[in-house]
Amino acid sequence: MPTRQPRRAPGISGRCFAVLDPATGEAFDDAPDQQPDELDAVVDRAHEAWRGWRADRVARATALLAAADAVEAAGAELAPLLTREQGKPLAESYAEIARTAARLRYFAELEPGSRPVTDGRPVRSEIRWRPLGPVAAIVPWNFPLQLASAKFAPALAAGNTMVLKPSPFTPLATRLLGSVLSTALPEGVLTIVTGREPLGARLASHPGIRHVTFTGSIPTGRAVAAGAAASLSRVTLELGGNDAAVLLEDVDVERIADRLFWAAFRNCGQVCMAVKRVYAPVRLYSQVVEALAQRAKSVVVGPGLDPDSRLGPVSNAPQLARVERYTAQALADGARAVTGGHRLDRPGYFFAPTILADVPPDSPVVTEEQFGPVLPVLPYGSLDEAIEAANDTGFGLGGSVWGTDLDRAEAVADRLECGTAWINHHAELSLAQPFAGIKESGVGVAGGPWGLYGNLRPFVVHRPEEARP
Ligand code: NAD
Repeated sequence: MPTRQPRRAPGISGRCFAVLDPATGEAFDDAPDQQPDELDAVVDRAHEAWRGWRADRVARATALLAAADAVEAAGAELAPLLTREQGKPLAESYAEIARTAARLRYFAELEPGSRPVTDGRPVRSEIRWRPLGPVAAIVPWNFPLQLASAKFAPALAAGNTMVLKPSPFTPLATRLLGSVLSTALPEGVLTIVTGREPLGARLASHPGIRHVTFTGSIPTGRAVAAGAAASLSRVTLELGGNDAAVLLEDVDVERIADRLFWAAFRNCGQVCMAVKRVYAPVRLYSQVVEALAQRAKSVVVGPGLDPDSRLGPVSNAPQLARVERYTAQALADGARAVTGGHRLDRPGYFFAPTILADVPPDSPVVTEEQFGPVLPVLPYGSLDEAIEAANDTGFGLGGSVWGTDLDRAEAVADRLECGTAWINHHAELSLAQPFAGIKESGVGVAGGPWGLYGNLRPFVVHRPEEARP
């Protein structure tokens, strides 16, 4: 258990809610159940802190670099707590922490350009990028620290302050992270609030917030956008995905099978840009299904704190119920569970890694986002048919193409309708790239300089090139 005492936000009512360990299904701690009316004081404080924080970019960069060091130094406290409440293997919790520190360093050193522009007339327009004010961030439970850092690193580097709400399924590691960061950041610059709904809804619509940055499901994203419309604040939405992996005729199945398997099953499939459906040429279909099923059968599933576990439990009971529902529906629709297809007979929220073959293409496990350790594999006849199926969805987060001829694979990738397309791998992101889902997978751009500018507004000064009377 953490030794550090998280700093409590003002006005806490004293109410708490239980936090469950998904490896046992038992409560192991609790978190403050902050009430919507407490947000006024929190946002006021973020506004006050903004005055000092926005003033000095060099001081901000120094504080963010110190914050990155503090996060790394607290890894041994943060990682077990994250695994306990989220379920993922300990090594993956450490990876989240490393990513959080790396992201703080990346944005600390990123400076917005300030440059004059001209349209040919003798007038110079100089653009100076200014912060927005207090920003709200709302994040889900699949990568609590990594996704929180994707919000606070660019927002704070840009000179904003932030109020951040983690999922009520995973509040504890984020609270501890807030406490670790508070050793490097001035009071009020980053405040973590925890609680159940309508806390998030109130935060999204709070009149003192100038930008709402949200990661989560499409239905909640719609609610957040509607809430933010009340104060006309800027909105960035990073939403669900249903990424397709298209395997080409020349793919070397054995060579790519491990990478393809983990692109679908890492974090128990609870990754927005996981591979959620595989399209394989008819000729290779049985070989692909068998290669994936072999890996699903042999992977060690167990509590994340057990060093032998490569896959943990599904993260929470509603998510487990959703995975069971999609799987049962697919089986009822005529799919075949080559391996798995059921819960594991043990305490906690464990589901057997599942490979589904012969799945009707209109079964919800193909058309919706299962977000769990279940992967449908579908055969295709012509490549055009595969690309059409991959694009025939309201989602547009990512996609991948797998083959030996890289130029050909890239030409196919170019036809995918999504924000990021990978060749022979999936879901790897550079801190320096833009990350933006299309269609219903997102609004706005995160990542890289685009993520920084998403947290800034242009302020333009016009002046003539020469003094005029
Ligand atoms: P969710 O939408 O249920 O919850 C996300 C967050 O919103 C949580 O903090 C939740 O408490 C809060 N919330 C719930 N109702 C709200 C409301 N009415 N107003 C404001 N906030 C509210 O999502 P989830 O189940 O926690 O996460 C899984 C989803 O997140 C999946 O769809 C996944 O694809 C998506 N996701 C997307 C990305 C991305 O970058 N595109 C990354 C990770 C996860």
